[in-house]
Amino acid sequence: MFSKILIANRGEIALRVLRACRELGIKTVAVHSTADADAMHVRLADEAVCIGPPASRDSYLNVAAILSAATITGAEAIHPGYGFLSENADFAETVEAHGLVFIGPTAQHIRMMGDKITAKTTMLALGVPLVPGSDGELHNLDEAREVAERVGYPVLIKAAAGGGGRGMKVAHSADELAEAWDMARTEARAAFGNDAVYMEKYMDRPRHIELQVLGDNYGNVVHFGERDCSLQRRHQKLLEEAGSPAIDPEQRDTIGRTATEALSRMGYRNAGTLEFLYQDGQFCFIEMNTRLQVEHPVTEMVCDVDLVREQIRLAAGEKLGYTQEDVTFSGHAIECRINAEDPATFAPCPGTVAVYHPPGGLGVRVDSALYTGYRVPPFYDSMIAKLIVHAPTREQAIARMQRALDEFVVEGIKTVIPLHRDILEDPGFQKGDYTIHWLEQFTARPR
Ligand code: ADP
Repeated sequence: MFSKILIANRGEIALRVLRACRELGIKTVAVHSTADADAMHVRLADEAVCIGPPASRDSYLNVAAILSAATITGAEAIHPGYGFLSENADFAETVEAHGLVFIGPTAQHIRMMGDKITAKTTMLALGVPLVPGSDGELHNLDEAREVAERVGYPVLIKAAAGGGGRGMKVAHSADELAEAWDMARTEARAAFGNDAVYMEKYMDRPRHIELQVLGDNYGNVVHFGERDCSLQRRHQKLLEEAGSPAIDPEQRDTIGRTATEALSRMGYRNAGTLEFLYQDGQFCFIEMNTRLQVEHPVTEMVCDVDLVREQIRLAAGEKLGYTQEDVTFSGHAIECRINAEDPATFAPCPGTVAVYHPPGGLGVRVDSALYTGYRVPPFYDSMIAKLIVHAPTREQAIARMQRALDEFVVEGIKTVIPLHRDILEDPGFQKGDYTIHWLEQFTARPR
């Protein structure tokens, strides 16, 4: 096992990793930008190294500074968290070339899944069903037209290098195709420096359902069930549940078996998430994330597993030590992402937190790096906390989340807590009857 780990991230996820390290008796090294000198992850780590000015590209994405920090502190492994360098195959390779362990999958698998076209062809070959669409990259508008005619409008043009919902455009008819084609490629080129695109049938009422997996270095892969992440705004998740209100244990077993067999054949290691669109009883793979997800806590609650601890153990070369039959599911968990945003306009709202009082009590978990007096910097993601609840049934989890949201005090900045309250009260949400389009329609309604 490692004796010291560098955490190449900030905010709540840096704390999340730090907590797992501490419980394993591993020393931690925090890295931070000058804007984060007072951040909680810096205060709680055993050691901290400043790696650059506020802009992420000069600090949290500064590979040379992060590797120097690891070298001077004697860290043996690097946990990348999510975002930043977590899905950067070159970074994973560089870390390993410096004799350190990258806590995550191999660079080869990160690269393979980072290109969504390769990810889809790989998964198809391994027996995982896909959303109907193009067989790989589209090279010109004529090809796009042919595929659109074959799969039927509406269609979605998507960036091979896509992420964060960028480089994705819908065309409802042949008339709209040329514009969607140009816009998707321009956006993809600007965001990722790569304008390769492909096409998928635009599904009209799917749910976003994803499967958590863990693999060791010896070909053993297990899954920890699904999360329903259908509640999204601009393709960004806002509220997640485990399990999905739409999936029964038999469906979970079936897709779980398909996925774990595929990943075991690939030799996939460490944590990963397969994302599917689910409609009319069919799972259609869209992409795989080769890292820990923001919403991993809902899985931890229902499976009683510490996924970060597992990531560290597996990266150290330990075996999984359990089989699929040992993974059990208990109760229901919900996560609300608390963003520092205006709940009506979604404009970011950085500033000083005048009062911070997190909720507590039975079945309530808050993952956050906030404290009273903390200044939320304007340079990074607006998510400032995750509120997670666990209860025996979905109905009880909703009631628990409602009372936890009522207790949550964050003064001085605006947050989306009022929006979460409205969602939790909605009869449609309470019935579990929603698709990926539900939240956009909900936020457009007068409330
Ligand atoms: P990104 O990597 O940019 O997040 P994804 O492929 O994961 O892109 O898709 C993000 C979200 O976009 C999905 O969760 C879903 O809401 C929507 N989406 C993606 N593909 C389709 C599709 N074929 N039909 C309808 N919605 C889609």
